[in-house]
Amino acid sequence: MSYKLFRKILEELKDIGVEDLWFDGWGEPTYHTRFEEMARDASRYFNLGLVTNGTMAMERVNAIKENFSWVFVSVDVANPDEYSKVRVGSNFSIVDNAIRELVRNGVEVWISSVLMRSTVKDVLNLVEWASDVNASGILLSNLIATHPHMAKEQLYGKLPPEEVPRIMFKARNLAMLKAIRIVEPFFEYRTDRRCPFIEERSFAITYDGKVVPCLFTLHTFDAWVDGRKSKIKQISFGNLGRKHLKDIWWSEEYVSFRSKVRLATYPSCNDCPFWEGCDIAGSNEYDCWGNSPTCSFCPYYRGIINCPRSYVVRWIVGA
Ligand code: SF4
Ligand code: SF4
Repeated sequence: MSYKLFRKILEELKDIGVEDLWFDGWGEPTYHTRFEEMARDASRYFNLGLVTNGTMAMERVNAIKENFSWVFVSVDVANPDEYSKVRVGSNFSIVDNAIRELVRNGVEVWISSVLMRSTVKDVLNLVEWASDVNASGILLSNLIATHPHMAKEQLYGKLPPEEVPRIMFKARNLAMLKAIRIVEPFFEYRTDRRCPFIEERSFAITYDGKVVPCLFTLHTFDAWVDGRKSKIKQISFGNLGRKHLKDIWWSEEYVSFRSKVRLATYPSCNDCPFWEGCDIAGSNEYDCWGNSPTCSFCPYYRGIINCPRSYVVRWIVGA
């Protein structure tokens, strides 16, 4: 994101009354060459949250300490060998040292972990390690597979693996003993649908200024959901390089989209008997009820995917 666009975005966010701003998305905010400056500028007006893979956190300790209220570091497994298989090219000890340094500097660090078949057995070890580094809590989520070989790693679905409730029970108890707060996702589809973005009046902005409703539709990509491939098309309601946020937020199209999500007027592909063979469900462009775009098979909507958000932390700490 260019610095000029970032400054314009800050003005737009102030104008519409935004309170919390998160530096995250499907990228790494601390790699931005003007990260410190951007954090300083934004923290003058907003409560800031950061989601980082932690590899640059040691170099950014001061900027993080001085500007961010909530810090989530992505660590999926606390075993160095397994970690380097999951996060190829990253080094567990670098991230471990950075987290300890952040905590030493008074930063409340949360661990954000994506659970997978190959790593779920290590959850107890993750809780032990999170306690050892004095993390404030662990936010667990499920995997959005972006490649067929990743699909085998998913733990959720119509029939989640049998061992998951047993492992989670143990992890919950250990977390209680260690005074570590733990937030779990659902592993099977429930009737309730609640979009964490729309309900909390959140939205996302892409690096080039597009206003999108959520992280799931931040960009166009292929996802493997419940054993089949679906194209997730980016949903954009306008670009802040050309329009004001107020005009985008109150546009008929965006207001109507938010109402539909809140009222859940979408079919439920996740438990539809035609899911495997339904061509319509091959993308989020439309559904069999005539909605376009659609949220009919979104895993965030069912609580399967969790993402770090201010309301999660506020809910946990009762603030
Ligand atoms: S689009 Fe309709 S028919 Fe197709 S999987 Fe979803 S709910 Fe079923
Ligand atoms: S339900 Fe899913 S796709 Fe729809 S806005 Fe929410 S997160 Fe995005």
